[in-house]
Amino acid sequence: MNYESDVAIVGAGPAGSTAAYVLAKLGLNVIIIDKSSFPREKLCGGLLSSKSVRLLEKIFDETEESLNKKIINFSSNIFQVMFKEKTLAKYYSKTPTYFVERTVYDNFLLDKAISSGATFIQNETVKKVDLDSNALFTSKGNKIISKYIVGADGANSIVRKEFENNGIICKDIWRNSLGITLEISIDKKKLPIEKNIICLYFGYIKNGYAWIFPNMDKSIIGIGGLLKDINNDNINDMFIDFLISLGFDKKTIDSFIKKIRGHPIPFGNYIEKPIYKKTILIGDAAGFVNPITGEGIYYAHKSAEIAANAILKDYINQGKLEEDYINNLNLFLLPELFNSKKSRNLYFKIFNNYYLAKIASFYMFKNTKYY
Ligand SMILES: Cc1cc2nc3c(=O)[nH]c(=O)nc-3n(C[C@H](O)[C@H](O)[C@H](O)COP(=O)(O)OP(=O)(O)OC[C@H]3O[C@@H](n4cnc5c(N)ncnc54)[C@H](O)[C@@H]3O)c2cc1C
Repeated sequence: MNYESDVAIVGAGPAGSTAAYVLAKLGLNVIIIDKSSFPREKLCGGLLSSKSVRLLEKIFDETEESLNKKIINFSSNIFQVMFKEKTLAKYYSKTPTYFVERTVYDNFLLDKAISSGATFIQNETVKKVDLDSNALFTSKGNKIISKYIVGADGANSIVRKEFENNGIICKDIWRNSLGITLEISIDKKKLPIEKNIICLYFGYIKNGYAWIFPNMDKSIIGIGGLLKDINNDNINDMFIDFLISLGFDKKTIDSFIKKIRGHPIPFGNYIEKPIYKKTILIGDAAGFVNPITGEGIYYAHKSAEIAANAILKDYINQGKLEEDYINNLNLFLLPELFNSKKSRNLYFKIFNNYYLAKIASFYMFKNTKYY
């Protein structure tokens, strides 16, 4: 079967659903396709920074109050920064940090896109992309032809791989700065330490960190760092060391093993020109994740908003797609990623050395100390 649309979006995560919502609301004919059936799970800490919530309010016409009712499970202003078992700082942030459950969050965003008129095709994988004829070929033998393609298909993006195959971007740069993560979600009651604050742990992994993020009735425990520094075996060992140091006994850890999940994360491999002809990459597919914190949801929404505006202008002949997308990425998104990447090595070097981390924490958090 052949489908036709103005815009075909691959991936219904935060990036894809945001682009679909904005474009469908403006009257474009939008198809959004995902390989999963929704609601679906996505490995994530579920942390939403304040700037993400402000952006959600703006794009989706919501208020903090309405988001609290619909998707936000938990919020906290207190951070604890640790070097292994030792506390470096406990501080109070003026703005709260929010937590969501990704299954609910992504489904909420997708519902918004569908209600604004986008057509959703689920449980169907895009297998091949023709960047010259703007055609997508799916696992069910369908073909989608569109004026624009948006690759919002995450860290393992097939649309980005098509850019690599065509020599538009370099494979090695992507691999060189790819991150790897492990995560487990556990019942909050089982956590042997304080439960309702945001804990960041250094000293377990070279260019990365471990975390415990609170949520409504569970805690998300994870670890992540640059893939080139580790291999699959020793990240498992690092994670087990971390769990032991949290006070879990061997029997409990053994019962966790099967529930631990891993996923790649872009970690400094953002693409500065993620566009070819009428195909645009957004979100994780373009590597838009902060290279220090691993925050990606904000950049997924922001790049989707920028891409949707560039597509609209091109569609009504009031702008040039590539120029608009790249200029606005350079104005509103890439500088943050660039600055974080520049300071990343130094930052992780300091925080993975107890004495340097102690001195740095003293100066960084002295005015926001929490007792
Ligand atoms: C362990 C971990 C913890 C994280 N924690 C946080 C956090 O706390 N806060 C934060 O801000 N960020 C976090 N991130 C990053 C965040 O998850 C991503 O940046 C964010 O999900 C990016 O959204 P996206 O829409 O670009 O991609 P995704 O959310 O990955 O969505 C991509 C979608 O594309 C679909 N898809 C993929 N391939 C195809 C295909 N071929 N055909 C059709 N559909 C396809 C997938 O099914 C998926 O639904 C974390 C990442 C990891 C790995």
